[in-house]
Amino acid sequence: MTFPVSAMISVEEARGRILSFFSRLPAERKPLLDALGQVLAEDVVAPFDLPPLDNTAMDGYAVRAADTTGATEAAPRTLRVIGDLAAGYVYEREIGPGEAVRIMTGAPMPPGSDAVVPFEETDEPLREPGELPVKTGEVQVFKGAEPAANIRFRAEDVQQGSTVIQAGRVMRPSEVGVFASLGVAEVAVYRRPVVAILSTGDEITEPGKPLLPGRIYDANAYSVAALVRKCGGIPKLLGIARDTVEDLTAKIREGLAADMIVTSAGVSRGDFDVVKDVLAREGSIDFWTVRMKPGKPLAFGAFTAPDGRRVPHLGLPGNPVSSMVAFELFGRPALFTMLGRDDWERPTLRAITRDEVRNTDGRRFYARCIVTKGDEGQWYADLTGPQGSGILTSMSAANALTVIPEDLAAAQPGDEITVMMLDWEHAP
Ligand code: AMP
Ligand code: MG
Repeated sequence: MTFPVSAMISVEEARGRILSFFSRLPAERKPLLDALGQVLAEDVVAPFDLPPLDNTAMDGYAVRAADTTGATEAAPRTLRVIGDLAAGYVYEREIGPGEAVRIMTGAPMPPGSDAVVPFEETDEPLREPGELPVKTGEVQVFKGAEPAANIRFRAEDVQQGSTVIQAGRVMRPSEVGVFASLGVAEVAVYRRPVVAILSTGDEITEPGKPLLPGRIYDANAYSVAALVRKCGGIPKLLGIARDTVEDLTAKIREGLAADMIVTSAGVSRGDFDVVKDVLAREGSIDFWTVRMKPGKPLAFGAFTAPDGRRVPHLGLPGNPVSSMVAFELFGRPALFTMLGRDDWERPTLRAITRDEVRNTDGRRFYARCIVTKGDEGQWYADLTGPQGSGILTSMSAANALTVIPEDLAAAQPGDEITVMMLDWEHAP
């Protein structure tokens, strides 16, 4: 299916066409911690109750609540201390009337006990840390305990046989913790996509090498690789292809083992580069103009690997800001889909722009801005200076993109606009 180069399509239409090509990757089983950030591929069922036994939530004395009824500081109840129980041990004797066991947080409740009186409500002498307990043989209780006081009951957190966490959940630190608490050491998660990244152009130079006159360093491969890694993918740098059929063809073939190939540059209209020809010859590809700024030219298609597998290919524009913004809008959702996630939509806010944002050519304008919170709780957006699609520092200074609609010619200072948050963690 080929779309005419002249047809302008919306961001949503381009994304829809791209995403229809992707589905989640097969699952892999891996150690719990290594699965952080990946999506659970199976329901996890509790192999036992959590907590496995009734246990104490406080350091104190396990008692029969009835023995403490009516106790006050003036009229304490005196109980016989028949044992001392640390967490990790079980007290097997039954507590009889008038008896208590000195017990540490997490230790299982001794049989016959039904409440815990915290040390603070007894005559337990205040000790310095590390000082050994003073065993007096008895304890005075200053306050009556209700039955069940200070007990963490068996299965109050998780019941054996219940689904603790459902397939589809992203593994966050708390999921890792819950699984560890159930003794689960490995989980099945959808595999991370490997993304092969190729820069094209005779002028592009690998960072670290000397820069010849007229040349520029390769920004795109690195910014896109960083985005891939941040999305949870595994970037594989293919290097730089010269604008020759042989070099481009060879480099693309090196990338065919990946789950996706991302190239940058050579996709503009009227481009003299050979990129378009080679892309079209090595696979099927559509060249689109998307109604957005920056990043209007975009290519999407698929190469065929030697084993017959179709490897999707996203062709980003060459300008460094355009390639990052286009990856953000099209590459990131594709990666999320392969990871089994559908939450790729960035959060948006309404913010008051303090700059004029002009938008004269009928495209959606993703200007780089910095969003901050005012004293009254209102969000403000400030542009990050010149917005040329080659000015990569405009991206580095930003934590958000404006979403100026296609049909809005300008937003004036004081107007409320929509902003799409790229980064909550780091305000530059
Ligand atoms: P093109 O799409 O080939 O017309 O490239 C558009 C602009 O992006 C040109 O100024 C290129 O030099 C620049 N460009 C292309 N690839 C890269 C890259 N990997 N890193 C930095 N700039 C690039
Ligand atoms: Mg070029």
